[in-house]
Amino acid sequence: MNQRSITCYMCKKNTSDYINILNEYICDECESDISTLQSEDIKYAYYNIMLKEMWHKFLIAYP
Ligand SMILES: [Zn+2]
Repeated sequence: MNQRSITCYMCKKNTSDYINILNEYICDECESDISTLQSEDIKYAYYNIMLKEMWHKFLIAYP
């Protein structure tokens, strides 16, 4: 549990349970989703795209 609430980068929900990754926030729900999803799951493709986007933004911000 964190002090402030954030908007999850993946699902856009407001939550105070999150992790900070690549300067973005991901809620606990999405985080456990990411670690348990099978690659054939349609959500997996979505998370994959979002993660790529996060990396892209991160690498641009910190060349
Ligand atoms: Zn989320």
